[in-house]
This record gives sequence, structure tokens and C-alpha cells, in this order.
Amino acid sequence: MTIETILPIPDIFSARRILCIQPHYDDNDIGAAGTLALLVQAGAEIDYLTVTDDLMGLVDHSLSPEAGADALKHDQFMAGEIIGVRKQCWLGYPDAGEYSYHSLRKDILRSIRQFSPDFIFTCDPWLTYEAHRDHIQVGLAVAEATILANITKITSGDPALDAAYRGGIQGIAFYMTREPNLTIDITSTWEKKVAAVHSYMAQFDNASMAEMIHALDAKSLQLAVGHSYWRGEALKVLHPSALHCGI
Ligand SMILES: [Zn+2]
Repeated sequence: MTIETILPIPDIFSARRILCIQPHYDDNDIGAAGTLALLVQAGAEIDYLTVTDDLMGLVDHSLSPEAGADALKHDQFMAGEIIGVRKQCWLGYPDAGEYSYHSLRKDILRSIRQFSPDFIFTCDPWLTYEAHRDHIQVGLAVAEATILANITKITSGDPALDAAYRGGIQGIAFYMTREPNLTIDITSTWEKKVAAVHSYMAQFDNASMAEMIHALDAKSLQLAVGHSYWRGEALKVLHPSALHCGI
């Protein structure tokens, strides 16, 4: 028996303040835009935090880093408008580059204490066969920062912020997971998800975008098999207590 089977799955629809922390500009939307659009409709405030500068994924190699960042942000704001994202924030770590895990965890801890979310979304760092280190590092740093957030002796680099933090994280939802414990009916927000993903044209040419949409289409239909709805999105949703010393 694992602790997950004792603790109930936290209710994502009771969340009011959600921080979605992603390695690259498009991960939150590819992994969970259908669910996030539903949560916005249910009254949640949603902020996105993007960890890397994502410059390695640009289709147009002639763009300067500044022009590339502008193009990525332009796409991200368009997608954010569609889903209803309140605020976009960035940490600017080098995409697929070298950076310190502890520096990343500290920055994420600071963002969590600033935003004070009751729910956190990120990519599943334990996804089997995940080879992209940004996804493994970011997912793990977010999971660890979630369980350390209440221990304010672990500093975020801002003592006043640390002293003022009052906790309150009810749950964490991992998208891009192969071990989901929750499938969300995203039939009503599927078109929004497609439109949001379609916004990321700095990172996809027409052929690779068509491939991505086709994959998302097939997966959403597969996840709905056996259910009364048409399209699904899969998440692993855990109480923070399930992230340490499992029994
Ligand atoms: Zn990514």
C-alpha cells in the first residue's frame, strides 16, 4: 500500500491560486491547457513561470537571442490570452544548458513564496524514458520546493518574503505523465488547447506543428475511451505529503 492510496487525491477544482512551472514556453499548454482553461472558468487565478530561455528550440536560427526571446514571448502571450493566464514570469536559465539544481530550486522556492499558490502544476520528472534534462530538473526542483516551502529556514534569498510565507499548498499536479491518477474531461476546452498550442509558431514549422496537434488529438481521444466524454487530459495529482518518505 502506498501513501497515495491513503490520502485522497486533492481536488484541483477547489484551487483558487495555481502556479504552473514549466521548463519551456509551451510545456504547460501542451501538457495541461485543457484542464487549465477549465480551472480559469472555475474561478482560479493562474500564473505561468517559465524556467529556461527556450532559445535552442527556435525554428528560425537567424534570430538574435533578443529577437528570439521577443518571438517566444509574443507566442506565449497569445496562448495565455486564449487560456486565461493572469501573468507570465521567466527565470531565463539556458535552454538545454548547464545550470545548478540548487540555484533553480531556490528560484522556484522564491516564486512559490511570492505567489503563494494553493496548487502547483509542472511536468512529471519521473516520466519513464524522459531524456530532456530540463524536464527532469525542473519537475524535480518544483516537487522538492513544494515539500520544502513551509520550511522557511531554507531560504529563497529574500528573508522578508520567507518570514511572511504562510504555506497552503494543497496539491501538485504533474502533466506529461505515464502514471496518471486523474483524467479530466477537456471536451469543452479542447479547441482552446489546440489554439493555444498553435500559437507557438516560433518553435514549430508547419509540419512539426501538424505532428504535435495530431499526437495531442490521438492522445486526448485515447484517454476518453470508456468514459462518457470525448476528450481527456491525464494528470498525476498528489498531496504534498505523498512526495516524501512514501510508505
Ligand atoms: Zn519542454
